[in-house]
Amino acid sequence: MIEQDDERRIVGGLYLRLDELRQWHEVETKCWKCGHAAAVPLATLKRGRSPYTTLVDLGGNLRCTSCGTTGAQELIVRKLPRNL
Ligand SMILES: [Zn+2]
Repeated sequence: MIEQDDERRIVGGLYLRLDELRQWHEVETKCWKCGHAAAVPLATLKRGRSPYTTLVDLGGNLRCTSCGTTGAQELIVRKLPRNL
């Protein structure tokens, strides 16, 4: 049984650039170290970064808000239902 969350996961979503992310994309970070997961607003991701940055590049620079580890974030891109 596939969870509903996984159905919305975009395969290859990490290769999207920041300027390709739209309001129906949801980016979640998950920390390998402590397991902390959080949805990151697009505005936060884009702030101070080049629009050509890919999420792959970005993952190595993010810092966990829970344990403080940098570069241990797994990024998951999902598609939100369009009717929101
Ligand atoms: Zn952490």
